[in-house]
Parts: sequence; C-alpha cells; structure tokens
Amino acid sequence: MNIHEYQGKAVLKEFGLPVSAGFPAFTADEAVDAAKKLPGPLYVVKSQIHAGGRGKGKFKELPADAKGGVRLAKSVEEVGAFAKEMLGHTLVTLQTGPAGKQVNRLYIEDGSDIAKEFYLSLLVDRETSRVAFVVSTEGGMDIEKVAHDTPDKIVTFSVDPATGLMPHHVRAFAEALHLQGDVAKQASPVLNGLYNAFVAKDMAMLEINPLILTKDSKIKVLDAKISFDSNALYRHADMVALRDETEEDAKEIEASKYDLAYIALDGTIGCMVNGAGLAMATLDIIQLYGESPANFLDVGGGASEEKVTAAFKIITADPKVKGILVNIFGGIMKCDVIARGVIAAVKAVGLKVPLVVRLEGTNVQEGKEIISSSGLNVIPADDLDDAAQKIVNAVKKG
Ligand code: GDP
Ligand code: MG
Repeated sequence: MNIHEYQGKAVLKEFGLPVSAGFPAFTADEAVDAAKKLPGPLYVVKSQIHAGGRGKGKFKELPADAKGGVRLAKSVEEVGAFAKEMLGHTLVTLQTGPAGKQVNRLYIEDGSDIAKEFYLSLLVDRETSRVAFVVSTEGGMDIEKVAHDTPDKIVTFSVDPATGLMPHHVRAFAEALHLQGDVAKQASPVLNGLYNAFVAKDMAMLEINPLILTKDSKIKVLDAKISFDSNALYRHADMVALRDETEEDAKEIEASKYDLAYIALDGTIGCMVNGAGLAMATLDIIQLYGESPANFLDVGGGASEEKVTAAFKIITADPKVKGILVNIFGGIMKCDVIARGVIAAVKAVGLKVPLVVRLEGTNVQEGKEIISSSGLNVIPADDLDDAAQKIVNAVKKG
C-alpha cells in the first residue's frame, strides 16, 4: 500500500524529521486558505498522486507548454490560479503510464530555498535481509537514469537489524554527500529518524527525492514516497486509514474484499489458478507459448464457491482479457467447487471470450461433469501444457 506525499511527511514529522510546513487542499478555495496560513513569499503547489516525476509531468487537458504537477507560486493568488488548473485534471508522468492520473488533492507547502538536491532511499534488501540505504549526490532526478549512466554516483549500505543504525553508517552517508561541519551534524538525527520510521511502520520503501540542503544550511525532506509491507498492515490501522482507493486498481480493490491474491498485469489471458506456485508456472507457460497473462490470481486453498464466482467476475470484467484459463489442481481445493463457481459467474455475467478449463485432483470427475453438462462453451484440457496451448491458440484465432 502506498500513501500520498503529504501523508508521508506527516508520518516522518512524528519521527522528528525536518519537513516544511504545509496543508492538503481538495479545492482551489482550500488551496488559497492553506497558502494564507503559510509565511510566503514562496509557495509550492504539489499534485498528490501515487506516482513520482510530477514536477516534469504534463497535464493532458492543458497546452503542452503549461507548467507541470509541482509548481512554485509567488503569491496566494497564484496558488489559487495553479490549483484551479491542476485539480480535476490528468497528470501524465514517467511513472503513471500514458493514461496518467487524475489530480484530486493538492499539497500547499512553504517554499524552500534550495542549495543542493540529494537522493536518499531506504528499502528492504532481500539479498542481505537488511534495510538498505541508497544515497546519491544526484538528487531531484530520475534515479534509474543516474544508476544507468553514472553508477559510481550511487552509494549503498545496509544496516544489521541486530545493531540498528550505527555511527559509521552516518559517517558513510555524510561522506557520500560531501557534508561537512554543522551540516554533517544534522545527518545523525535525519538518518536515525528515517530508519526508526521505516522499521516502526513496517515500510517496504521510503524514498526522499530530493533531500535538500537549504541556502541557510539546513537538511530537509522535500519529497516523500512511502510504501508499506502489505503483510504487516494488520498492525498499522493508522496507516491503513490513509489508504486512497482512487489511486488503486479497481480490480485489485474488489479482489482484496474477497481476500483473493490478485495482481493486474498487461497481457490478454485471464488466469484463475489455485496456489501461488501453480499460478506462477501458469503465467510462465502462457508466455512460453507466445501470449501474456492479464493477471496473477491465486484463489487459495479453501476457496468457497462465492469466492470463485467473485474471482471469475473480476477477470471477465477486464476489457483486456481475450481468453480465460482456469487451471486448478484440487488438493484442499475441490474441483467441483471451482466448477460451480465458474458456472455461477458465467450465468451472472455471460462469457464473451474462449474459456479453457484444466481440472485435476480432488473431485475431478464431478467437476468435469458439472462443466460438461452445463452447456457452456468450455474447451477442456488435460494438463498444463495442453491447457496453455489451447488458450493461446484460441486467443490468437479470435
Ligand atoms: P516529483 O517531481 O514528483 O519528484 O516531486 P518533488 O516533490 O520531488 O518536486 C519536484 C522538484 O520541484 C524538486 O526536485 C525541486 O527541484 C522542485 N521543488 C519542490 N519543492 C520546492 C521548494 O520548496 N522550493 C524550490 N525552489 N523548488 C522546489
Ligand atoms: Mg521527487
């Protein structure tokens, strides 16, 4: 789960991190009121969407030379004018994809005088099983590009969970950014605050791009992108309350209501599978035969008919889906339950694309009979290989 920049900054502020004063705004009037509460003379009007690259982004509805999704305003009136231009419009950035995202909230922030922009992120490094810091002098830009063009400008180190953050980490950070004197002294509270926030809130990623040095020599968090480990959300009701469902894939939200492990993908073949391993193998074999999966979906071990029906409806509602592959190995899951769920869903929403069903395991005969006597136009398959070839051929023909 991700949260907005302004929410992330509020969390970081609790951990003592230096952030600018600011207020969220949902209307142009609220933006003006927010600006009036700030000292000025510089204000920043920031689109709040769950994607980076807003500053360089473009609004679909505005002329190509219009300003982007993060703007510096020199008066309260300008804040109001910018807010009107941005709210309700679609911002396209490197990270949103061509469809862009509608801007429904803004963050109005006290403007900073920037001397330098740095890059800093914390993430869970699976290889070392530690929290890793990624630091660069090249802040404010696309870090993937920095990593590609000038990898020597990126410094990383990881923190042993047994010791926590140590003074040598702070020194490595200050050295990487060439911080000296009084500025270097600010490194310790900043790094400790970020590390504590990361661990306490079970974050998966915390990216500050840029972390800035102001002209009066203060380190400040100017941008904050936070995502949480979804497996730990159950112990952070306060973070879950920050969830903005308008930023999420509608199909994934629907799936989460039924406790289905569903992830939307870009391909054409909708998949309903039980077990994460079998689901991954199914995605691979579809690729092997030359098509791409439209989703990952694990209906789980003990799925009810209702859950299977919900899963099938989510798949068929996706306009990208040109064919469906149901691949079930009945262990705890019973094949007849799957068959009834599929038929109930098809009765409710119809079936406009080819459907290949491969059932194996517990109650397989019963499952196959339910499907064959249903009158549905189902293409039966005997094993995974056969099933993948049949759905790929059916989609290619269609
Ligand atoms: P992003 O484009 O989505 O990463 O949004 P950021 O919050 O990182 O803002 C983009 C850029 O706007 C930053 O890299 C800064 O150069 C600029 N910017 C943001 N806030 C301020 C500010 O308070 N003062 C000044 N001078 N520039 C800012
Ligand atoms: Mg940024």
